[in-house]
Amino acid sequence: MKFSEMLPHDRSRKLAHRAVAKALAEGTLIRPRICENCLNPGPEASDGRATIHGHHYKGYEFPLDVKWLCSKCHCKEDPRPSKEASGMAKLDREAVSLIRAKYKPSPIKGGRRKPSPTCCHALAIEFGVSKSTIERVVRNLAWVDEVSV
Ligand SMILES: [Zn+2]
Repeated sequence: MKFSEMLPHDRSRKLAHRAVAKALAEGTLIRPRICENCLNPGPEASDGRATIHGHHYKGYEFPLDVKWLCSKCHCKEDPRPSKEASGMAKLDREAVSLIRAKYKPSPIKGGRRKPSPTCCHALAIEFGVSKSTIERVVRNLAWVDEVSV
């Protein structure tokens, strides 16, 4: 997706990530080897470096105010509300029915039809929402909550 087509929130995230990358390259920010929260090194990346993320704990308006967290802690601590929760739901009724029409469920396993991860992923990208949103839409769970009114 082009920067100009992004939602304001996604733009600020992108800008914040760029600012961190620039500061790391210039040495004004230094990525530690351990997580500030659990003090463990992150899982090894393929190049052998610890994978410690810069977590924007104050929000993207403070691009260089990051806490360095392992991916596990980052996942837990990120206060970023989901798009649905923050009132930025992008799915209207039409989109929901489109998703349901496009969705191809994976084969029934053990008598239960499970959402297909690949397809949910593809639809999430197509509709610009999280994969779990797609899963909830296709499983028909409380989707009304997701729909902007
Ligand atoms: Zn951690």
